[in-house]
Amino acid sequence: MTAASNGRVALVTGSSRGIGRAIALGLADAGFDLVLNDLARQSEALAEVKSAIEMRGRQAVVVYADVSRKAEVTAMVADAIAAVGHIDAVVNNAGILISNAVDDLEEEQWDSVLDVNAKGTFLVVQALLPHMRARRYGRIVNIASIGGKHGAQMQAHYSASKAAVMGFTRVLAQEVGADGITANCLCPGIIVTDMGRTNLSDAANVAKWEGITALRRLGQPEDVAGPAVFLASDASAFVTGQSLNVCGGIVLS
Ligand code: NAP
Repeated sequence: MTAASNGRVALVTGSSRGIGRAIALGLADAGFDLVLNDLARQSEALAEVKSAIEMRGRQAVVVYADVSRKAEVTAMVADAIAAVGHIDAVVNNAGILISNAVDDLEEEQWDSVLDVNAKGTFLVVQALLPHMRARRYGRIVNIASIGGKHGAQMQAHYSASKAAVMGFTRVLAQEVGADGITANCLCPGIIVTDMGRTNLSDAANVAKWEGITALRRLGQPEDVAGPAVFLASDASAFVTGQSLNVCGGIVLS
């Protein structure tokens, strides 16, 4: 099924698979054209996502960058704007999870998780802000996690990175609101992706997570797409600085 254009373009980082891929396809279904980012090693998977978007009648361009590296992010945003003309919305989805206990956590593990999840979000936002401010329009959607509110053992550094994303977003919303830009977080719960399976190592773990979820099921990547489309679109014009749980009712506040 093809989707009529809504005239908007969205950049989604880490969109070769999992939640990022589902959000990119959801945005295409809602009429967005897409700028698809991931690491260059994901070129094959990203080509599949680009083709799935084009099958929907929408356009997609691919821009490779490691979001934790400022020079690559600056080049990515410049290349994307040159290719598509403007960017209305960004979904900062690229993220990594490395499980380890605080006692054993290596400095490099702390740094890499904070670099991709927190600094990567900041770098992409900072590179896009002049463009969004000049157009007096922007929708910034940062993928945090219920782990940033609650957290699970072995994931203290991941939890810290996602709490950082939420704190960053709350202040960002205040700094950019006067220019017509909103900034919000989504906080997924347990979503069945390569990363999500880290928490689903055996049947007992699956049962545990299903049992504490009000909807009594695990999340699928597509469950995150609808809320992302809402926060990336005009429908959320008066929503900013918020962190919305998309977790089937694990966290109820
Ligand atoms: P995923 O399946 O592991 O996909 C993440 C994607 O991001 C991969 O394509 C990955 O590429 C890419 N990526 C990693 N580092 C990058 C970098 N430095 N620059 C650009 N792209 C990079 O993860 P997911 O489950 O879809 O998670 C997506 C987001 O949701 C993450 O921010 C995650 O923290 C968050 N989240 C997930 C869950 C869950 O249960 N799945 C729950 C809460 C929050 P490589 O594989 O090549 O590294």
